[in-house]
Amino acid sequence: MAKAKDIVHRHPKDPAALLDVVRDVQAAFGHVPDEAVARIAAHLKLSEAEVRGAVTFYHFFSADPRGASTVYLNDSITSRMKGRAAVAKAFEDEAGCAFGRVSGDGRIGLFPTSCIGMNDQEPSAIVDGVVFTRLTPESARALVRGLREGRPAASQVAELGDGANQSELVRAMVANNIRERGPVLFGAHESGAALRKAVGTTPEKVIEEIKRAGLLGRGGAGFPTGLKWEFCRREKAVERFVVCNADEGEPGTFKDRVILTELPRLLFEGMAVAGYAVGARTGVLYLRSEYAYLRAHLEAALEAMRQDGLLGRAAAGSEGFSFDIVIKSGAGAYICGEESALLESAEGKRGEPRDRPPFPVSSGYRNLPTTVNNVETLATAARILVEGAAWFKAMGTPQSAGTKLLSVSGDCGRPGVYEVEYGLTLAALLEMAGGAGAKAVQVGGPSGTCVAQDGFGRKICFSDLATGGSVIVFGPERDIFEIVGNFMDFFVEESCGWCVPCRAGNVLLKKKLEKVVRGLGTEADLRDLEAWGKLVKATSRCGLGQTSPNPILTTMKSFPELYAAKVRKGEDFVPEFDLEAALRTGCEAAGRRPECKESLHE
Ligand code: SF4
Repeated sequence: MAKAKDIVHRHPKDPAALLDVVRDVQAAFGHVPDEAVARIAAHLKLSEAEVRGAVTFYHFFSADPRGASTVYLNDSITSRMKGRAAVAKAFEDEAGCAFGRVSGDGRIGLFPTSCIGMNDQEPSAIVDGVVFTRLTPESARALVRGLREGRPAASQVAELGDGANQSELVRAMVANNIRERGPVLFGAHESGAALRKAVGTTPEKVIEEIKRAGLLGRGGAGFPTGLKWEFCRREKAVERFVVCNADEGEPGTFKDRVILTELPRLLFEGMAVAGYAVGARTGVLYLRSEYAYLRAHLEAALEAMRQDGLLGRAAAGSEGFSFDIVIKSGAGAYICGEESALLESAEGKRGEPRDRPPFPVSSGYRNLPTTVNNVETLATAARILVEGAAWFKAMGTPQSAGTKLLSVSGDCGRPGVYEVEYGLTLAALLEMAGGAGAKAVQVGGPSGTCVAQDGFGRKICFSDLATGGSVIVFGPERDIFEIVGNFMDFFVEESCGWCVPCRAGNVLLKKKLEKVVRGLGTEADLRDLEAWGKLVKATSRCGLGQTSPNPILTTMKSFPELYAAKVRKGEDFVPEFDLEAALRTGCEAAGRRPECKESLHE
């Protein structure tokens, strides 16, 4: 265990380093052994329970061995639509074990995972930290064979993607799939122009410009960015922070991946502008674990900006302004996209949401005033500073100014990212993406809205169809119940478990849905689904539980005829428990004949 000691002692004796230490131990051993837990706890002056709490909370940490090489295959609905089942079977056949297990020789571990931000190139997987996209049964088998022959995952990346994915620091087979370049994010931008303009005026005037532009948060909630910066600046404190939420975990969202890959300097400039506006000296980029392959590229962009005088002391030549950015990595947890859970995780703890108030603007990172903004929001803010509020407001709709970067995937000919003006109809977007003829579109991911054909005239904007960026297209043959079931599985898996309505309510909703889908439901069950869904939304503690019933509730609204066709009319109660089937299963397991209750082996 000398190695564990070495790994642990490479890190500072700071509890905030917990996730970094655990990540290194996990990488070295394929799990976090008991002895390492004790060492970590002693080094960071934490209890062993706190260390185990973090190990068991995050998807990519484990107390049990996960194999010398570990395959995390995306289990999102789009992955399933694009052939995941055949790919999973190929992995299992070649590895010699089922998903959720490690092969007998300990060489290969197979595990499912939630959306890894590659919905435009599914099926995809992360293998020993390396992203593999557009997998086929053949490539999955070859990959496992290669691992067994001692060829590292990175050496098996046969073809690189486009743009910066080809750079030496990334070397990923990920494709950007930029289909529509809009004027805001993809407009010509001279690096540093926004920050120089900001430091040439007062922080108050920077905030005023962002407020005048009507910039609303692009993560989905749509809070006015200028107002958030103003609240943060007003707080009396020794220090303030800018935190960038780069944890886009909503299934179907991958647009921040493209900004991080192709526009990292624009994003960091936006963070520096925010830092100047609120009076912060430090920015934190919270990077989702699934995008760890971009970390060296992002660190290099930061270093280049330091060399250019845009970060560090006297940034952009302003003597009174110093600002720099550090990167913190997540470890796989959807809930960390919620800003207070993200802050807990950035501080090295389990990513459980905090009670609010206080809001992060008054008590955020390290309990100090913090503005938490989305990747797209910060990059957009930098562009507004250069081009002006009037330019920005002239795009979009009166309530939703500017453009939105959308991640379009599913049953469409041109999956990828589209920068479009707010106000675009779903029908127009489907036309652009080659998705005409769709049966339904999921806007805003599982927590959003499922829109049927009669709603394709609706508009992408905050007052109609708000979205953090996820748009999943479902063709005419898709089974709506399979989609809803996948989304509910996702929420059951991702609930942090803190509050009962979310922890238990989502399981009950899922079971009730399954009963209806199996043809054992009544009209009373449909009423229960609706009532329980509303209850979970109203009583859950954070945004996850407040939106998790949406897959059921919005499809009940968009496709009432599908639900009505499933239930038995005129029956008050149909038992869910099928005694005959249970008896058959039990008898098979015990080797007995159900009808004569004799052993089949006698
Ligand atoms: Fe955790 Fe769900 Fe409650 Fe949020 S709503 S605190 S995710 S259990």
